[in-house]
Amino acid sequence: SKNKKDTRVTSTCCYCGVGCGVLINKERNGSITVEGNKDYPVNKGMLCSKGMNLHYTVNDKSDRLLYPQMRYNKNMPLQRVSWDDALNRTAAVFKTFINKYGPDSVAFYASGQCLTEEYYVINKLIKGFIGSNNIDTNSRLCMSSAVVGYKMALGEDCVPVCYDDIELADLFYVTGANPAWCHPILWRRVEAHKAANPDVKIIVVDPRVTDTCALADLHLQINPGTDVTLNHAIGRVLIENGDIDLDFITNHAEGFEQYSAIVFKRTIAEAAEICGVTESDIRLAALYISEAKGFITMWTMGLNQSAIGVNKNLSLINLNLITGHIGKPGSGPLSLTGQPNAMGGREVGGLSNLMPAHRDLNNPVHREEVQKFWGGNAINPKPGLTATEMFEALHDGRLKAIWIICTNPLTSLPNARLAEEVLKKANYVVVQDISNKPETLQYADVILPAAAWAEKEGTMTNSERRISYLHKAVDAPGEALPDAEIICRFARKMGFNGFDYQKPADIYAEHVRLTAKTNIDISGLNYDIIKEHGSVQWPYKKKRYVKDSSRLFINRQFYTPTQKACIHAVPDELTSENTDSNYPFVLTTGRIRDQWHTMSKTAKVNKLNQHYKQAFVEIHPNDANGLGLTDGDIAVIKSRRGEVRVKVHISTEIKQGVIFLPMHWGKILGSDLNRANNLTNDLIDPVSKEPDFKFCAVSITKY
Ligand code: SF4
Repeated sequence: SKNKKDTRVTSTCCYCGVGCGVLINKERNGSITVEGNKDYPVNKGMLCSKGMNLHYTVNDKSDRLLYPQMRYNKNMPLQRVSWDDALNRTAAVFKTFINKYGPDSVAFYASGQCLTEEYYVINKLIKGFIGSNNIDTNSRLCMSSAVVGYKMALGEDCVPVCYDDIELADLFYVTGANPAWCHPILWRRVEAHKAANPDVKIIVVDPRVTDTCALADLHLQINPGTDVTLNHAIGRVLIENGDIDLDFITNHAEGFEQYSAIVFKRTIAEAAEICGVTESDIRLAALYISEAKGFITMWTMGLNQSAIGVNKNLSLINLNLITGHIGKPGSGPLSLTGQPNAMGGREVGGLSNLMPAHRDLNNPVHREEVQKFWGGNAINPKPGLTATEMFEALHDGRLKAIWIICTNPLTSLPNARLAEEVLKKANYVVVQDISNKPETLQYADVILPAAAWAEKEGTMTNSERRISYLHKAVDAPGEALPDAEIICRFARKMGFNGFDYQKPADIYAEHVRLTAKTNIDISGLNYDIIKEHGSVQWPYKKKRYVKDSSRLFINRQFYTPTQKACIHAVPDELTSENTDSNYPFVLTTGRIRDQWHTMSKTAKVNKLNQHYKQAFVEIHPNDANGLGLTDGDIAVIKSRRGEVRVKVHISTEIKQGVIFLPMHWGKILGSDLNRANNLTNDLIDPVSKEPDFKFCAVSITKY
């Protein structure tokens, strides 16, 4: 009815990278309700617990930042100021630092939850006009190892499959992921597919027995960090048994000989010993792969968040390559993006080592193209600071000002106590957020209130390259503004041209023009086309709607210079922190089903707090017995960096010698003893610069 049309708009869930379609109903009293969009191809009407409760986060404005605040020096309290005052002063401070210390003395640290248009203008501002590449986002903590893995193996940062491949696959190899909790709607599709086709096989690789294992035909409960050894061992069995695709390897891939040499360095028995699984289970995994017609590998943080994250990714993609399970229906690597728009951010180049439309920062032709297009300053060839490097640079004084947008690094960065000390001493801190809760706010010199999901319009890209348009449904409270608007106002205060957009559609139009003739060409796209079709997958070159641009590499030509995929012979050595007699346990951190990130939204929803009301540590009964710990005790967990005190949750679902802490909790009532990242360490993957959240050495004792 006309009434429904006026009061209902489409959007996309702003939590995980599954990217479910949502209908937002605008109620008469100004509040909203949400429901799953039945016409949306991703979720067909389904929503998980987080998505179903999105309206509470919008309707409850009690924690919202309502107006800009500022303090003139660190000893003064924050006071309410106008937008002009906040942005004028910040522009003056930025100019002073840039003049005195150079453009690399300032940085933006943003989020995988930003809309594509927001990323675009931040990236343009710092790279095109300020002259530094110091923009990074919390996607660095999330998908950067997968990005490097894809680029090295396939020549481009791209997920080759689409979700419709799920229903065409007969084997899923799920590793370092718990999609039953963290990507629930995608997992519902796998469950439904297996229910309808009992022959479909699922292998789960995880040191924990997660809910995802409920569906597994084979659970390989490996020792943390041994993924490469396991994948190599499976590769070896496949080669030994002749279960590889020689035609694909010969014609469409390179590097097989070196790969073969490296996987044959270890016997299967040796690998089984290292991984803590049986030899027969490794052989069974290889058997399942050999029998599969459609073989999908799925992974997320267990592989990415590692000091050898890139090697783990490559060792996994290798299994698709040696078996030729890529570029055909129901087969290929499917990295499960953590955040709703990590991929959209990368499309505009929103990381410190990237350029718009996946251009290369170290390519002078690409730099010149972008500089000419933007009409600003020459692009600096030097990669900018990554997430953890920004805090190191604040620490040693190279970085003078940091602008934090839509993320809470004091809960989410590794070694969080050090990060907090660093932020406390930073010269100038701008925090742009929707919530008055993040710990960063107490160290801010300027606080800028941002509009939240459903209060602004823009686009996002999900894990299967699907671009969707998010409608604005309600006004932002108080003086809060959309992030893109804040950045454009600031850019104008800095005196830069090229930030006079009338509306987000203008930003989007500029972004798509810049993608022309690249691998991710979406130059044919605009808001009207996306709105008309609900969503569109890239690439999208023509202005004509094409339904199936969904699966890449059907012609088996890859984006590498030789058009062949690269099988990389990666070493399997683990470079994570060593355990010793003082810190004998391995800590792994992760998510729980009903919370998202640092909880600034999900903790507002009573229903979502019921699942786990507080932080806890999961430990195996044999370990607990040895330590005199019983269920419900308070345990003290220490690492070389800090400590945590949380309730003990004894469970046979975790491997002996390993403990698990949820990553969501930060400071509560001034105490940081729930914060898992007090314990995690500064080690990063040398290439992807992604932190080693899944492995650090700890001790655990009774409080
Ligand atoms: Fe939102 Fe992800 Fe849940 Fe879908 S699966 S409703 S995108 S949190």
